[in-house]
Amino acid sequence: MSASAIKAMTFPREGGCQCGAVRYAVTVEPTALYCCHCTNCQSQGGSAFAMSMLVPRSGFAFIKGEPKAFHFVADSGKRKIGWYCPECGGRLMHDTEGRDSVTVRAGTLDGAQDLAPVGHIWTRSAQAWMAFDETDLVYEKAPTDGYAALKAKWASQQSLVTE
Ligand SMILES: [Zn+2]
Ligand SMILES: [Zn+2]
Repeated sequence: MSASAIKAMTFPREGGCQCGAVRYAVTVEPTALYCCHCTNCQSQGGSAFAMSMLVPRSGFAFIKGEPKAFHFVADSGKRKIGWYCPECGGRLMHDTEGRDSVTVRAGTLDGAQDLAPVGHIWTRSAQAWMAFDETDLVYEKAPTDGYAALKAKWASQQSLVTE
């Protein structure tokens, strides 16, 4: 995707589940946005991949409803908690042990059609028909640099496309 087609995402903004019973707010600038092709994301969402947005934990809050927690072990071996709406089942956020950011399921943001991920992780389990742009950061498994390259690319994309 060319930078000219992308608009900078501005925050704060809100999101929520399919039925509207659970709502959340992201009050700080996220630090990265990428697609995850791990087997957990595929089976949880019933799709090819999930869009994951890294948000510092202090910048995320549920503002309506009572989400439920689903505990599981990620492909990385780390324990995670997936928060979801008990009414419609929509997954909204993941909390990973040892990480100071949460992962928002970015497709649940209001008006999520402006999302422009900067990379792809866990592509070893990606669908065979997936085609990656040569400008994308692509990782077979989880990044080993603490997501530094994804964060840097996201930051530069955000500053490049500010209107
Ligand atoms: Zn719901
Ligand atoms: Zn995943």
